[in-house]
Amino acid sequence: MTIFDELKELVDVPTAARSYGVEVQRGNMALCPFHRERNPSCKLYTDHYYCFGCQAHGDVIKLVQELLSLSAIEAVKQINSDFALGLDVDKPPDMEKVNRLRREIAERKAKKARIEQMYDTLYKYFALLDRYKIHYAPKAPTDDIDRRYLYAVHHIEYAWYLLETFNRTDADGQEEIKLEVDQIEREYKRCVEEWGEW
Ligand SMILES: [Zn+2]
Repeated sequence: MTIFDELKELVDVPTAARSYGVEVQRGNMALCPFHRERNPSCKLYTDHYYCFGCQAHGDVIKLVQELLSLSAIEAVKQINSDFALGLDVDKPPDMEKVNRLRREIAERKAKKARIEQMYDTLYKYFALLDRYKIHYAPKAPTDDIDRRYLYAVHHIEYAWYLLETFNRTDADGQEEIKLEVDQIEREYKRCVEEWGEW
């Protein structure tokens, strides 16, 4: 809630209008302060005003702004002081807080991207070993054992274990196995360069 919203909650249009010299008549109709007239054609609602003669309209801040020829923030200060609202109008926007929130959002995004990247690495390594294991399995007992098959059989359990652990861990825990994942990334590249995707 901004200070403008707060102020509008605290001071209604008819009250402000009366205080600044507008003559308010029955049914909250007033002689329009913004054009010459004999019969009141400016309707004052709780949260805004509208003149049927000159179409002037706005909220309580706009009203005081126009009546006293002030800027919006000056009008807010004027109302705040005249009605003793005690709003802290001089408080500058808390840029430190705004920047901290921005940094936090950026950091969360970066962390999410890092984790997705880690998951991809673990998954593609496991999938590669799975393909090696199926593709290069010996067809007969007398066949020579393919290096890729041997490698896959030796490493696939660890790959599966990492992937499983990763899935069961929260984000902070996932970041903690970064070193293992980096090693898997290098291992994956080495396999693909040496033996290919299949
Ligand atoms: Zn008017």
